[in-house]
Amino acid sequence: MSYDPNNIFAKILRGEAPCIRIFEDDQTLVIMDIMPQSEGHVLVLTKEAAAQIFELSEEAAAACMRTARKAALAVKAALEPAGVILAQANGAAAGQTVPHLHVHVIPRRDGQFLAMHAAKPADPAQLEKIAERIKAAWPA
Ligand code: 5GP
Repeated sequence: MSYDPNNIFAKILRGEAPCIRIFEDDQTLVIMDIMPQSEGHVLVLTKEAAAQIFELSEEAAAACMRTARKAALAVKAALEPAGVILAQANGAAAGQTVPHLHVHVIPRRDGQFLAMHAAKPADPAQLEKIAERIKAAWPA
């Protein structure tokens, strides 16, 4: 997949599109997913311009996983889900809808099905509230 610099995550990273931001460092940005599959679904975006894992540098992959681990810790501490999924799709056949590399961090609760992928926008005010809780639990 060739990299399209006008994809929505590239625009968010350039500050050209809005997001609910949780954490940022030199190599990654963590934001709320606007169509969450469960309450507390966040996305870890790599700042490197790569669409899929196949083009990502080893350094950016390591940075992305470092931040994903922190996001999982923060989500777990803030929202106390029974489990947390980390997922990363490569290609439309794998379910990828945005062609910029990102890791999903998705809380799982006993007896609760996941919502459809990228289907239903959540209430932005509710997302802001959850983001504040996750930010407050972000590990050092
Ligand atoms: P993918 O299908 O590429 O693995 O995941 C893309 C994710 O991005 C989906 O979970 C979808 O809900 C989310 N998403 C799509 N557009 C936007 C957006 O404009 N802002 C944010 N924060 N998330 C988005």
